Amino acid sequence: MTFESLGLKKELLKAIEEKGYVNPSPIQEKAIPVILKGNDVLASAQTGTGKTAGFTLPILQIITDTKNPKFRPIRALILTPTRELAAQIYDNVRDYSKHLNIKSTVIFGGVKPKKQIATIRNGIDVLVATPGRLLDLHDQKALSLKRIDILILDEADRMLDMGFVRDIKKIIALLPEKRQNLLFSATFSKEIKALAKGILTDPVLVEA
Ligand code: AMP
Repeated sequence: MTFESLGLKKELLKAIEEKGYVNPSPIQEKAIPVILKGNDVLASAQTGTGKTAGFTLPILQIITDTKNPKFRPIRALILTPTRELAAQIYDNVRDYSKHLNIKSTVIFGGVKPKKQIATIRNGIDVLVATPGRLLDLHDQKALSLKRIDILILDEADRMLDMGFVRDIKKIIALLPEKRQNLLFSATFSKEIKALAKGILTDPVLVEA
């Protein structure tokens, strides 16, 4: 299996080649075509499986294909539990989008929000965020989530363990009802299944 046969566009293939990846990992083989088709996805994947590229590559393709060149509302929102993970995902988004006309940024707590607000005001297509800081900035009217097409919950089990379930529900209430949803988790407790049921519509199950 090659990245090309998964249906990824040449700008993404170039970025993948520059990263030195030769073949897609099992989670990438399974998740990328399903996400490109527009399905909701419930994915069981551990760290180290290549899951970040598994959701980042197809969402970059989807938003590039449907982009309005004059206008950059936030189109994809990647929620993640910790600042370390947020920074890591953002590095991936930047690397994979380097040949595309896509702007991205990352927001998390523990630093002053002023710079984050200014960056978002300049127009962002893909936002990586921890839940608390996202809600803070939304409350300050520094960002709008009304044009989100794709929501990604990464490490959803850790988000629940860290007590983010209320924040996640608040964030979801701010999103358009019609959107694509991807939920990645290493484990599937009753709580995760309940959260997934409330968020996903007819999800395709993907296992690494
Ligand atoms: P992740 O599971 O997303 O944290 O990725 C784990 C590591 O695998 C990261 O360092 C990625 O850069 C790397 N990686 C992701 N996809 C591939 C691939 N198809 N081939 C080789 N390395 C990869």
